Amino acid sequence: MSNLFEHLVRANVKRMKPYSSARDEFKGVANVYIDANENPFPNGLNRYPDPLQRALKAEIAQYYGLSADNILLGNGSDEPIDLLVRAFCVPQPETLDATDADAILITPPTYGMYEVCANVNNIRVIESSLLDDYSLNAEDIIHKISPSLKLIFLCSPNNPTGNLLDTSAILQITKATSGLVLVDEAYADFGQQSMLKAMLDYPNLVILKTFSKAWGLASIRLGMLFAHQDVLFWLNRIKAPYNINRMTIDCALQMLPKATNMAEQVQVIVAERQRIVSFLEQSVLVEKVFPSDANFVLVRFKDAQTIFDYLLTLGIVVRNRANLPECRGCLRLSVGLPQENDALMAALRAYSH
Ligand SMILES: *Cc1c(COP(=O)(O)O)cnc(C)c1O
Repeated sequence: MSNLFEHLVRANVKRMKPYSSARDEFKGVANVYIDANENPFPNGLNRYPDPLQRALKAEIAQYYGLSADNILLGNGSDEPIDLLVRAFCVPQPETLDATDADAILITPPTYGMYEVCANVNNIRVIESSLLDDYSLNAEDIIHKISPSLKLIFLCSPNNPTGNLLDTSAILQITKATSGLVLVDEAYADFGQQSMLKAMLDYPNLVILKTFSKAWGLASIRLGMLFAHQDVLFWLNRIKAPYNINRMTIDCALQMLPKATNMAEQVQVIVAERQRIVSFLEQSVLVEKVFPSDANFVLVRFKDAQTIFDYLLTLGIVVRNRANLPECRGCLRLSVGLPQENDALMAALRAYSH
């Protein structure tokens, strides 16, 4: 049986025999379960959950309009990110010439977990900074493609800048590499663009989504990776057997039928974002408001640290990104409830006077 990504996967992952749990070995319905050393007294949680979360994946597949075979669920988005790095990138032995070592590529300023994950696994990180308007430098990324570049991490809408990345640039990069391109769409529900369906035409394009943002379930830790079956084959081989717990599965199953509720909240958040942006664009404290397709806004203040400290004295905590080289003077403001946004704007208005 051939797999499209056999050339990409680590040799030890190819060789290993995956752990087979009791629930992997027996999948039917029985009268007596004495195969997994569980406590037999029922309390709703005494049994191990489905290692492949079939019931939940079926609902997610239906919601997003694709096959359950193209889904891997993770403990947050962090787990699929880590699985990709561990399945495809060989940790760099000290003796290996660094330019030949397996690598990931990131596009600063961007989400911090890609690099953290690479660092934990001792994987080389190649950078291709976003351009001044925070768009992709596709030419530079394509120039940096090599056989050892295994994973390219793109984030759209990007965190912390808020903008969508150009679809045609992403596809151009995807076509140019034999590695995988991950598009992190944690915030896609707040914008007008998703590359989810493009995944069906480009086997090396993988899409990451999460229940943590629009779905309002940051606490249950549930991420979704959408990918070609030949990618998921390797990830399922190395993931922890029962990586998603029963309470998380049940909670997500209850939330999915309430998608219209989520969509209504997204509408309010997007309208509030616009209200905040309009206000900030008029504020004398502000140098630049970056366009956002997410549920936050990146703002360059004339004196970011002073504003940050001032807001803190009023009990308003925002994310200070001013020390990132590409985000000079910037604070990142999440869109809150209408009254919370009012409090933010009142505070900034009071400061101006
Ligand atoms: C918030 C966020 C996530 C979500 O992470 P979880 O582990 O699913 O909570 C993923 N990617 C980006 C870019 C984010 O900002």
